[in-house]
Amino acid sequence: MAAAVPPDKARRRQLRDQYKHAEREARAAVLPMNREQLTALVEFVDGLVVSEGCDHTLRHARSWVRDHDLVWTPIARGLTELGGYCDCEVVMNCDPEDVFGWAE
Ligand SMILES: [Zn+2]
Repeated sequence: MAAAVPPDKARRRQLRDQYKHAEREARAAVLPMNREQLTALVEFVDGLVVSEGCDHTLRHARSWVRDHDLVWTPIARGLTELGGYCDCEVVMNCDPEDVFGWAE
C-alpha cells in the first residue's frame, strides 16, 4: 500500500514555526502597541503592583497609557484579550516576549 510519506522532522518544524509565527502575529495584532511600548507598560505596571498592589482593575496600565498619549479603549481590549484583566494579570499574561516573540 502506497502510504503517503510522513513529513520529516524539518518539515514538521517548519509547519510548527509557521503556526507559532501566525499565532504570535495574531496576538500582536490584538494589541495596538509595539514591543517597546508594551515592555515599558509592563515594567511600569509591575513596579506599581509591587509597591501599591493590584486593586483588580487596570488603573496602573491606564495611567501609563494616558501618560503616553495612547488611546486606552483598544489597548484595554487587547490587554484583556491576552488575559490581562487587571494590573497583576497584565504583568503575568502580557509579557512582550509572549506577545511579540523573542527578539530575532
Ligand atoms: Zn490583579
